[in-house]
Amino acid sequence: MKRSASYGRQRRDMVEKQLRTRGIRDDRVLEAFLEVPRHRFVPEKWIERAYDDGPLPIGHDQTVSQPYMVAAMIEAARVFPGNRVLDIGTGSGYQAALLAAMKAQVFSVERIPELAGQAANRLAGLGYREVRLRVADGTLGWEEYAPFESIIVGAASPRIPEPPLQQLSESGRLVIPLGRDYSQVLHIVTRTGDGYRTDRAERCVFVPLIGKFAWKRKPAAD
Ligand code: SAH
Repeated sequence: MKRSASYGRQRRDMVEKQLRTRGIRDDRVLEAFLEVPRHRFVPEKWIERAYDDGPLPIGHDQTVSQPYMVAAMIEAARVFPGNRVLDIGTGSGYQAALLAAMKAQVFSVERIPELAGQAANRLAGLGYREVRLRVADGTLGWEEYAPFESIIVGAASPRIPEPPLQQLSESGRLVIPLGRDYSQVLHIVTRTGDGYRTDRAERCVFVPLIGKFAWKRKPAAD
């Protein structure tokens, strides 16, 4: 009881100090961050640091992103209730849970089976049962459920993968960190009547997107 009350307070602090003051304005995004228990998405060992202002390890050399980055991506993706959202790189499942809390129809793809399995258990345990998960190469998108109003890629790519781009709905938005290891820029691609418009947002650092239309394998020591 005492513990969960203190996690609630930590969530309110996170929303005020890390998100609102840095410019996250969308109330539906902020409310989702107040609702979803981030401490349930990190390994036991890191639980007391779950609401810190940074990424945390989740095993298999992967991380759950810094709360602010997750919020910036979700806000940029313009997620509305009932929208179909493709989440590429399920990782811990935290971002998928936030999207579900915003009442989107969530389709989430992860390449590492163990992470996908853990995320599935967490999401089910917290009642986010409507999230659809798949173990696959997310650079191929998820053709069966396309088109998507929003696609969020939670890993860094050297280029925009073509299949997810094709799976965007009219006016749909794809948010992706593009660049080299350890230094990328968040890009927002909007599908327009006759093509795509690309806007650059902020600098960021993500783990690599590994697949047919991104890095062929881990760029650094593997
Ligand atoms: N959004 C996640 C964090 C993502 S970390 C969260 O909320 O926890 C990036 C994830 O992308 C990692 O789990 C990594 O295994 C996964 N990934 C990398 N390349 C991928 C690909 N081609 N398809 C699907 N997942 C991929």
